Amino acid sequence: MSAPVPPGAPRQQPPPPQGYNPNAQRAPDSLAANMQNMNLHRPSMANSGPRPPPFGQSPPFPSSRPPPPGAIPRPSGPPPPSTWPQGRPTGPPMGQQQPSPFQSRPPPGSVPPSMAPTGLAMPPPSGAPPSGARPGSFPSSAPLNAPPSSAPTGFASNGPSPPFGGATMPGGPRIPLPPGGVLQQPPLGPPSAMGASRGPPQSMRPFSSSSGVSAPSFPPQPVSGPFSDPSQGVPPFSGPPQGGPAPFGAPSQGVPPFSAQSQGVPTFTAPPQVAPGSMQPPRMYGMPPPPLSHQQPTTISHAIGQGGSPMAGPSKIDRSQIPRPIPSPSVTLHDTRLGNQANPPPPATTDYIVRDTGNCSPRYMRCSINQIPCTVDLLTTSGMQLALLVQPLALLHPSEDPIQTVDLGEGGPVRCSRCKAYINPFMKFIDQGRQFICNLCGFTDETPRDYHCNLGPDGRRRDADERPELCRGTVEFVATREYMVRDPMPAVYFFVVDVSMNAVQTGATAAACSAISQVIDDLPEGSQTRVGIATFDSTIHFYNLKRALQQPLMLIVPDVQDVYTPLESDVIVQISECRPHLELLLESIPSMFQNNRTAESAFGAAVKAAFLAMKSTGGKLLVFQSVLPSLGIGSLSAREAEGRSNISAGDKEAHKLLQPADKTLKAMAMELAEYQVCVDVFLTTQTYTDIASISVIPRTTGGQVYYYYPFSALSDDPAKLYNDLRWNVTRPQGFEAVMRVRCSQGVQVQEYHGNFCKRIPTDVDLPGIDCDKSIMVTLKHDDKLQDGSECSFQCALLYTTVYGQRRIRVMTLSLPCTSNLSNLFRAADLDTQFACFSKQAADQIPTTPVVLVREQVINLCVNVLLAYRKFCATVSSSGQLILPEALKLLPLYILALTKSIGFKADGRIDDRSFWINHISSLATPLVVPLVYPRMMAIHDLDSNEGDESIIPQSLPLTSENISDDGIYLLENGEDALIYIGNSVDTNILQQLFGFSSVDEIPTQFVLQQHGNPLSKKLNDVVDEIRRQRCSYLRLRLCKKGDQSGMTFLSYMVEDKNPTGGLSYVEFLVHIHRQIQVKMT
Ligand SMILES: [Zn+2]
Repeated sequence: MSAPVPPGAPRQQPPPPQGYNPNAQRAPDSLAANMQNMNLHRPSMANSGPRPPPFGQSPPFPSSRPPPPGAIPRPSGPPPPSTWPQGRPTGPPMGQQQPSPFQSRPPPGSVPPSMAPTGLAMPPPSGAPPSGARPGSFPSSAPLNAPPSSAPTGFASNGPSPPFGGATMPGGPRIPLPPGGVLQQPPLGPPSAMGASRGPPQSMRPFSSSSGVSAPSFPPQPVSGPFSDPSQGVPPFSGPPQGGPAPFGAPSQGVPPFSAQSQGVPTFTAPPQVAPGSMQPPRMYGMPPPPLSHQQPTTISHAIGQGGSPMAGPSKIDRSQIPRPIPSPSVTLHDTRLGNQANPPPPATTDYIVRDTGNCSPRYMRCSINQIPCTVDLLTTSGMQLALLVQPLALLHPSEDPIQTVDLGEGGPVRCSRCKAYINPFMKFIDQGRQFICNLCGFTDETPRDYHCNLGPDGRRRDADERPELCRGTVEFVATREYMVRDPMPAVYFFVVDVSMNAVQTGATAAACSAISQVIDDLPEGSQTRVGIATFDSTIHFYNLKRALQQPLMLIVPDVQDVYTPLESDVIVQISECRPHLELLLESIPSMFQNNRTAESAFGAAVKAAFLAMKSTGGKLLVFQSVLPSLGIGSLSAREAEGRSNISAGDKEAHKLLQPADKTLKAMAMELAEYQVCVDVFLTTQTYTDIASISVIPRTTGGQVYYYYPFSALSDDPAKLYNDLRWNVTRPQGFEAVMRVRCSQGVQVQEYHGNFCKRIPTDVDLPGIDCDKSIMVTLKHDDKLQDGSECSFQCALLYTTVYGQRRIRVMTLSLPCTSNLSNLFRAADLDTQFACFSKQAADQIPTTPVVLVREQVINLCVNVLLAYRKFCATVSSSGQLILPEALKLLPLYILALTKSIGFKADGRIDDRSFWINHISSLATPLVVPLVYPRMMAIHDLDSNEGDESIIPQSLPLTSENISDDGIYLLENGEDALIYIGNSVDTNILQQLFGFSSVDEIPTQFVLQQHGNPLSKKLNDVVDEIRRQRCSYLRLRLCKKGDQSGMTFLSYMVEDKNPTGGLSYVEFLVHIHRQIQVKMT
């Protein structure tokens, strides 16, 4: 069989015979003889010049080399655009200078822990918002890079055996309080404005929900819990709360979640609290629980007493009084501990600056409830979910201190000899420092001799404030030999590009090559970084990039069933040796294949072949795919079409389509993970590609799917592809990682959720881990906790930096335990609960009918509110719907979730699969906007002159806010839609987009900067959103009246849906009714 030869490139030699194995060849000559000599056609690519903005469009960012969309930490304050050019914090490190996440910082003592730095004064412990509440912003030029480090030098080794040995063991004393010291009590009082002169005003307007809160969620697996019997919505109340009334009798379930006939118009009786997130002073957990009124519930009462009268229509309701996310324009300053107590973090969706005073930053690890219920019964009664959301490499705010690196020499990090927990601020030293008690398992250990230090009069080690590992919630230890299975590998980036007919003709191949070519310079520098490239259609084409060769040579691998690969040393080459070759090649590929008539795509075989080449080192495999894989290993069928034609199968058929087609790709994924290859797939497609099957590979290897549908070279897809790729390779990340979470006795990890490979129950393997990836860790009780004590969680991530350093990042969070239900509701973290909840719902969708998942989701919400209503809100009539302050947005988010893409039974299968996948590793701050996007008016950008923020105020998602003469921007962190009413002022249309009438609006669209202030403002808004979201949002224009307009309106989740979805008001009434039913 002779391999089809990609057209376009004259070849002097026939392809290698079948079965030819280049690896068996010894003589370099014979190898070369079997490669196809490519005639490279020079020009033809748009980007052959000196790195112009992608595709000639106006650069997405002001600088000529646009920073990756997330170059600056997501949730943080924006440096003004003018600082971007030099501000690219994530660019390739220069020499020793590394991005902050990997860098050590000044010696611990440099900030005397006993003094709160000026400008970081804390808000008052209680009472009204601090006067002049705005803490001010941070310096716009705040560099992300850490100051030069003077961290301890010298790598040492010591250390316990395997990085993650041992398991938590029972027994041993419990440590009620952490050793002090870490937590100096800062002066109380209103925050002094942080340098009023520093930098621009905060412009970010995240959804600041009210304080956090609870969305109980599906127990991942067969857990006892709300979801154990999905079909019936069993209430989570498995037993009576201590001292509480009897358990709820079997509530009359089976009420369809969306029985549209709601009754009794609720009227709003108590206005929602001001967003507690940013303004409310932290509560002190050591204090007696404040009266409930401290966190006043939101109460909505029925205008019509007994629910009997039909819904009188929403007109009676003041919609502006319904709980909604309240934008918080100011930045919150957050100390992780105050006065030796855990300080509950601000909502994940708000803008805040963290100071690590003992607990880790909430960016790295957040608990769904900021107090831990003492018993499983109490947790069950609350209806809430107990879980951690871990984002171990999360980006910091530019004003935050970088993580300190600790090198304890040859001994390595000090660890508990029983449970292997790492030394942390909550381990208690006793016996003049000769011993320490583990805060996780309670075991008493001998202090290693060279780590000994006497205790001061306060019982703390005298050096506690000088040692980051004894006073910080997050530190990074230099790993010793014991933590290495092998030497750290060089960073390897292997690009695989689809050149089948469809890919070439749609411009996807050219877009991919252009993007790769432009990011080559952004790859981590250093002589060790290596790259490789292959293309594929029905065969796989490798390229020999060795410098010695005049031109890159192509080797075709025709066998896509039993794949082999050329010599690794030929196809994966140090970047310094092959840059000119590589650039030439990337420039030539689109023209080489421009007449390709091969429609087949051997995706699986290409991945496998590239994997074989990378096997010895591991690394990143970036695959650009445009059609359904139809050939060779792991080929897939067009089962969507088959599924659609089989309508009688209904839901069952849809479920099959949302699950991987077979186990071939999963098996391959496991092998990739085992050899530390992390795969990202960029789907630039116009057809069904079976994301449910393909995504198994990135999900198992710590990678992700990027989805461009329908791909168009004329839209901003190529720009997004470039920016996504660039961020992919420049963002903080690590390789060959292993992660484990340890918990104090009484609680244990139930399960991990996210993109990783799991071989043993306790650890997750991450061939790749980056700053955007979040892992959910569900927890369960295995014993009672003691009221008043603290429960600790420690997440350890062992990984290799892109510069080949082996590190252990250790994050420790210690939270108070409580046996008081009201405390749980007060301490609920809405964003985290909702994130857990959404992730678990997404996991369920492929296997459970959507109707049931929706019902479960709503039941969870009802049960949480019911528990609060029944046990915590004592004085109110049954005519009122009472929402705990921290959870008041739960119904809104739940409603939005049930209307999101994943839940659309009639939606495109790939869209739903992508959504399910996307949410699995999505960071907490991005989950809410994904289901409840941000919408703003942009036709009147001129009018908010006095407004400090770049981004206009967001509007509730209801079509009542959309007028025919308006233009609106809606973004969910992934896509952005611009809706244009049909009677918009043509002058504004002209200024913003350059169209003279609505009719001229094209389907393909690239936002450009026109020479007027309005246009500039719109571009600024879009740039700012991209920066905040770390994502180059795809922009789409939507017109009233056509399909695009319908798409936009489908995001109006507060509206009644023509197909049966309740409006927000109706939903509140529905929830209230369910609660009333359960109360009786
Ligand atoms: Zn221990």
